[in-house]
Amino acid sequence: MLKTRNLHKEFDGFKAITAVDFEVSEGKRHAIIGPNGAGKTTFFNLITGHLQPNQGDVIYKERVITGLPPHRIVKLGLARSFQRINIYPRMTVFQNVQVALLAQHNQHLHFFKSAHGLYSNETNELLEIVRLMAERNKIGGELAYGKQKQLELAISLAADPTLLMLDEPTAGMSPSETTDSIQLINDIANLRSLTLLFTEHDMKVVFGIADQITVLHHGEILASGSPDEVRTDREVQRVYLGGEQ
Ligand code: ADP
Ligand code: MG
Repeated sequence: MLKTRNLHKEFDGFKAITAVDFEVSEGKRHAIIGPNGAGKTTFFNLITGHLQPNQGDVIYKERVITGLPPHRIVKLGLARSFQRINIYPRMTVFQNVQVALLAQHNQHLHFFKSAHGLYSNETNELLEIVRLMAERNKIGGELAYGKQKQLELAISLAADPTLLMLDEPTAGMSPSETTDSIQLINDIANLRSLTLLFTEHDMKVVFGIADQITVLHHGEILASGSPDEVRTDREVQRVYLGGEQ
């Protein structure tokens, strides 16, 4: 479904991503792990068009998408969430999702005042899926952190993706929020037949839901395979999992 070929990214001579050949198959729950600074977010940004590679290509469903702007890539069915919260903090929960749906249908905010009812069924459906119906009239920025992440998820789903990319979806969450959130993400992926590509620092979460894991280290792929293959990989044990397993 998604491939990168010999992908490179430098920041002022610093090699953040080097020669990354990578592949995500349809229907997988694919995790990218690696210590802070390994290049996970940079790699995501290269895939979604938020950064341009110095070399190499991104291929989505057999089509080279390198160089396309992010909004075009989203329209192809590849949506993402960000490591930091990315909602409209002063709008209601309902409006946040409604605006995302309007954008998806190429309609803009200036239509909004006369558009109270637009996409309200679809908005409610998404709020139902992320379990935020009870909060639909609350102000987005006033929600608890975990619920803001649920709202972000609804905003990402408004793009009707086939591949959903989540950058540290549980960062900053309490252990119970983390468990709930992962359960929710897993349920949604099943419900909507999504392919998931996510980064995550919590190894319990990773080994709990991923069926494919790629380890990034100093911008290079150290190992890639099933959870068992990665867990028992000598290099991975040495440089990364060592202390924990
Ligand atoms: P991760 O998400 O795995 O923690 P990042 O992709 O955020 O890692 O960062 C990888 C490396 O690239 C880090 O050393 C970081 O400081 C550097 N980096 C990321 N973005 C930029 C940027 N825009 N300019 C310069 N350096 C960057
Ligand atoms: Mg990151």
